[in-house]
Amino acid sequence: MTVDMKDIVALCKRRGFVFPASDIYGGINGFWDFGPLGVELKNNLRDLWWKHMVLCPPIGPDGTPVEIVGLDSAIIQNPKAWEASGHVGGFSDPMVDCKETKLRYRADHLIILHQEQGNPQDLRAVTFVEGTSEEDISKRLKKLGFSPNISDYKTFKFFDFPYVSENLDKIFGPDAKEKGTLTPPKQFNLMFHTFVGATAGEDNKVYLRPETAQGIFLNFKNVLDSTRVRVPFGIAQVGKAFRNEVTPRNFIFRSREFEQMEMEWFCHPDEAKKWFDFWIEQRKKFWLSLGLSEASLDCRKHGQDELSHYAKTGEGTYDIEYKFPFTAPGFGELEGIAHRSNFDLTQHEKHSGVKMEYMDPVDTSKRFIPHVIEPAAGLTRGVLALICEAYTVDANRPSGMYMNFHPALAPKKAAILPLTAKEEHVPLATKLYLELREEFAVDLDIKQNIGKRYARQDEIGTPYCFTIDNDTVTDGTVTVRDRNTMAQERISMDSVAGYLREKMRA
Ligand code: ATP
Repeated sequence: MTVDMKDIVALCKRRGFVFPASDIYGGINGFWDFGPLGVELKNNLRDLWWKHMVLCPPIGPDGTPVEIVGLDSAIIQNPKAWEASGHVGGFSDPMVDCKETKLRYRADHLIILHQEQGNPQDLRAVTFVEGTSEEDISKRLKKLGFSPNISDYKTFKFFDFPYVSENLDKIFGPDAKEKGTLTPPKQFNLMFHTFVGATAGEDNKVYLRPETAQGIFLNFKNVLDSTRVRVPFGIAQVGKAFRNEVTPRNFIFRSREFEQMEMEWFCHPDEAKKWFDFWIEQRKKFWLSLGLSEASLDCRKHGQDELSHYAKTGEGTYDIEYKFPFTAPGFGELEGIAHRSNFDLTQHEKHSGVKMEYMDPVDTSKRFIPHVIEPAAGLTRGVLALICEAYTVDANRPSGMYMNFHPALAPKKAAILPLTAKEEHVPLATKLYLELREEFAVDLDIKQNIGKRYARQDEIGTPYCFTIDNDTVTDGTVTVRDRNTMAQERISMDSVAGYLREKMRA
């Protein structure tokens, strides 16, 4: 059953996962704040990714663990870096403006529904933003006085529509009342800029990074010279990226400030294909291990028209996609795995004049510029996928739903609940809480009746509740309530930490 996005957004605000940024001022489009539980969830995903990449990287095709080191580079770099990477010249999306509503759309996110008419002059064509529900499409068609039946229409991607630019005067924009209000597509640079120092002139113009990857390429030589890593190896980085997205939408899916988890894998050109396949497999496994279901994940090779400027020279790009409620039954990108060839290092070599060649330590006559495989995931988008996957409707419990987070990801691993606020229960609960919090993110919740407290923990996805009652006082046991099954069992208070440790690993 698909969950309604409205319910997810409402839960996120009510329970403190995600708030609109500048909420008290009416928000700011494309920016979000992570609340007390959201930041825990995000950190947990980030830490698991870091563990998978840097602390405990996978076993490579030859049976030995691969080698990856971490990095945390500056958000603002020398602007020449963005010229070299192609972002200043090429990092832009074609957009169309609506003259009537003043709204702006990414042309590659628009679809056109077209109804064949006898007379070609009588063109019936209406534009929608990709992902608009069938119900909303029908409603709008009806409002325009057209047939609401979607099967009466042919659907085109904006650029596939025959002579789209010539026909714009006959086409309805996604939100317009009149036809012919869309402008022809034009390029729009997605990088935010600002100025360093006291004067705001072209010479002082710098950019907020639109991806974390370039900071890695800029440090390729530094890492080689300061550590013992040898090709093939990887450099991983997690951090903020900024894109002045034309149409930020779908909650935190497409925002203007977000976080990425990127790893650049440097290898010999002859081995790039092998490592490309390896990382596609590994990354799929990673998302499955976090509890995303096989049915909601898809792995898709990019079409030639979708390739980024850097991927054109390599084997292409794979997307790991997730079936978000707003894309269902379709999928939306969660992570891209790109074969970047030696594009970036070569560009930086050309623009900086610094050699990026790697010398084979065994045979020093062999030099080459490594090829790069890049698994680039969205941390923010990953959090959204985890939230969507976890949201489980269950009419049989007071909260009506629960968040089915994998215990390792859950913002709170356990809640310690004294059955009553009685004198004997609270000190024992506090003792257990003080012991557990050294190792786990746990909640001590004393007030309210026990049913309400369980309901709250269900809503925030706490996998285990430990209840202290009269039996605890006499025999030292506590009740464990399992979030998903609601089954209860008694275990000794001494074994609670071991119990949780075991569950976190599973
Ligand atoms: P899209 O086609 O959705 O704009 P992209 O292909 O440009 O994304 P990449 O440059 O490959 O994205 O970035 C890697 C990852 O960063 C994406 O898979 C996504 O998870 C995340 N990401 C990119 N743009 C945004 C954004 N505006 N908001 C949130 N996450 C984003």
